[in-house]
Order: sequence, then C-alpha cells, then structure tokens
Amino acid sequence: MVDINVNKISKTYTNGTKALEDVSFEIDSGEFYGLIGVNGAGKTTLINALTGQIKLDSGEISVLGFDASTEGEKVRANVGILPEKESPLSFMTPEEYFDFIGDVRGIEQKELNKKVNSWAERLDLVDEMDSMNRHLSRGQQQKVLFAGTFLHEPEVVFIDEPLANLDPIIQEELKDYLREYNNKGNTIILSTHHLEVATELCEKLGVMNNGTMIGEHNVEDLDSHDDIRELLTNNGDLDE
Ligand code: ADP
Repeated sequence: MVDINVNKISKTYTNGTKALEDVSFEIDSGEFYGLIGVNGAGKTTLINALTGQIKLDSGEISVLGFDASTEGEKVRANVGILPEKESPLSFMTPEEYFDFIGDVRGIEQKELNKKVNSWAERLDLVDEMDSMNRHLSRGQQQKVLFAGTFLHEPEVVFIDEPLANLDPIIQEELKDYLREYNNKGNTIILSTHHLEVATELCEKLGVMNNGTMIGEHNVEDLDSHDDIRELLTNNGDLDE
C-alpha cells in the first residue's frame, strides 16, 4: 500500500528561489524512507509541502489518502512532524508541554502519563521535567521535541534532522527507537544531510539536489556509501 504519492510538484518562493522542480516519488506504507541532500537541496521545503504547510506552484501530493494542498489540516492531524531547529514552547515545562500535546492529540491522561514517564527515563530528562523549556540546553529541548512527536504514535512521521545537538549515547538510543517504531509497521520519512545516519536507518533513499530528486536507491543495493556520497558531492559540498 502507498502512504504518500508525490506527482510532479514544483515550488518557487516569492523571492524567486526555485526550491522544488518537478519532483515525483512514492513512499510505501511501513517504509523507512530517507530524504538526503546537501543543505539547500530542498528537503525541508519538500517536508513542508508533504504536510500541507506551503502552497505549491503545480503538482499533487496525497498523504494517507488526503490531498496535502487542500486537506493539510487532515494530513497534519494524522501524522507526526518533527521540524528542524524548532524549540518546545518556551513558557512551559516539559511536563506541561507533554500535557498540552496530550490534549491536542487526544491522548488519555493515564496513557499519556505512562508514555511521558517512559520517555523521561529513556532520554534522561527526569530532572528537567519541571524546568522551563527555555532554560534547557539545545539538546534537552531537542529531546522534548522528539518525544512530543511520537506521543500519539502516528502511523506516518516526518523527522527533519532529528538527532541534531544530541550526544552519541542518546543518538544511539533514538536510532533504536526509530527502528522499533518502523518495525511495528509505521512509516518514517527522515530528512538529513548525514549520509551515515540515513544508510544506517533507512531502506530507501531519495537523493535531492537543487530542488530535484536526482535518484532513488534501495540501501541494500548500494555497494558502498561511496555510490551515494559521489552523487551528493558531485553536486555540491557534503556538509558532515
Ligand atoms: P534543505 O532542507 O535541503 O536544506 P530547503 O528546503 O530549506 O533545503 O531550501 C531549499 C532552497 O529554498 C534553498 O535555496 C533555500 O535558501 C530556499 N528557501 C527555503 N525557504 C525559503 C523561504 N521561505 N523563502 C525563500 N527561499 C527559501
């Protein structure tokens, strides 16, 4: 079954930057799909388009049967989104932020408490649960955002550079979580410029460059990272 169908989409920002040009691809239900490309390739714009956050010039996107252009709200109600470089609401504590998400996502309080406690333990956030989010380190804020994205267990989740600012131990913990989450049948779309992370986690990679999808590769068919690295570096500097 196909969860996401992207048909010839293009997007030009008002300043004239062509961020996406004639992009088409599909993501199957239960797939762990990696969007890779150098900074500026168009990955974030693509995720914003997939979740109905920007107006397209042309083309269509279907996510879980909803049209992302006209039914963005329904798409966003049914997926999880972890944007790049976001911060949890500064005037709340992590505890309050998770309660807030529980309300918005309709998670029953007892279930929510169980999940929040488990995330706090897993991410070593127990001592921070009552601190204001604005006083947390960048990495601690990222942990709060990550946990908040998965609380309602969406069947499709979009994660943009999810491991940024996290120490190596937590990164491994979260990679394990993502593998488990995907093994339960959920679809994960990971956007990153870290090739190692993408090949470690994903089954399929869509390589973006200059607003176009320049190739799709099954990770198991890649002889070595060099194949993809070459694709990336031939078209720009790989920032790793
Ligand atoms: P990536 O996520 O791969 O780094 P982006 O989607 O953020 O790429 O950016 C693609 C291109 O669009 C870049 O040239 C970027 O500068 C430009 N861009 C992104 N957002 C905007 C915006 N709101 N207005 C104008 N240009 C933008």
